[in-house]
Amino acid sequence: MRVAIASGKGGTGKTFVSVNLFRTFRQLGYHSSLVDCDTETPNTLAFLSKIPAGEKTIMEYRPKIDAEKCLFCGRCAEYCEYNAIIVVPESRYIRLLNDLCHGCAACRVACTSGAITDSETTVGQVYSFNYEKELCLVEGRMRPGHASSVPLIKAVTNTAFAQTFDYTFYDAPPGTSCPFIQTVVKADYVILVTEPTPFGLSDLRQAIETLQTMDKPFGIIINRAGLGDREVYKYIESNGFDLLIEIPFSEQIARIYSEGGIVVDRHAESKQLFTALANKLTALWK
Ligand code: SF4
Ligand code: SF4
Repeated sequence: MRVAIASGKGGTGKTFVSVNLFRTFRQLGYHSSLVDCDTETPNTLAFLSKIPAGEKTIMEYRPKIDAEKCLFCGRCAEYCEYNAIIVVPESRYIRLLNDLCHGCAACRVACTSGAITDSETTVGQVYSFNYEKELCLVEGRMRPGHASSVPLIKAVTNTAFAQTFDYTFYDAPPGTSCPFIQTVVKADYVILVTEPTPFGLSDLRQAIETLQTMDKPFGIIINRAGLGDREVYKYIESNGFDLLIEIPFSEQIARIYSEGGIVVDRHAESKQLFTALANKLTALWK
């Protein structure tokens, strides 16, 4: 089973849940892996004692345009669904907008004058690690300045698929845009982590609407329960959504986490909570 841990915004405790859930599953004897898909700020695996096992550079196609050979016919721009090429025939001007390019190579096919050739750009790296003597941790690190993390997320999730695990956890990028969708599309179930605040509610609504359009089953964790208001609870109850667990706001939890510690190893109540969560999740597939 593949479980994505996601949130409509950053800072809700998604990474905290990912690490502690993975740790709990391993302690309960489930053969589990953890994949950090938050490739712009991968920090999930920093909590775990691990040994590097491999590194792979991920490349993406880019067209290389030779303005000397260009006839400024505009066919490449017409073929590009992402508006990543600007052609101004009157000014004999052509330019690739790198940030918009999705590397589909349609422009290369469109150009019959030989002005476009194949090239590549580095998207980032995929790192794998051994943990408890087996290769079960993977993370992607996007190259600073690269526009889209989607190809890298595809690569990290495919790396995890190369092995057989009972449970694989994906720490998803925050938000509900393409990187989020690329992660959750590979998951059988999504855990949405939120907090009981107006911002938490707003982002939760958005994430749920996105998952509903994808027909993905999901459950919700409220983190820092006790802070904020009851609006998130009302929303969850009135829609009949599944509230998996509430993690109380606790200075002790915050301190252990800020020290880089695994909370279920040092806080008995958290261990109980995450064990209850693991039992709920495993029961879903019985
Ligand atoms: S590779 Fe695809 S997305 Fe990029 S410029 Fe060419 S047609 Fe557009
Ligand atoms: S299709 Fe080729 S020749 Fe035409 S504008 Fe694009 S690069 Fe230039």
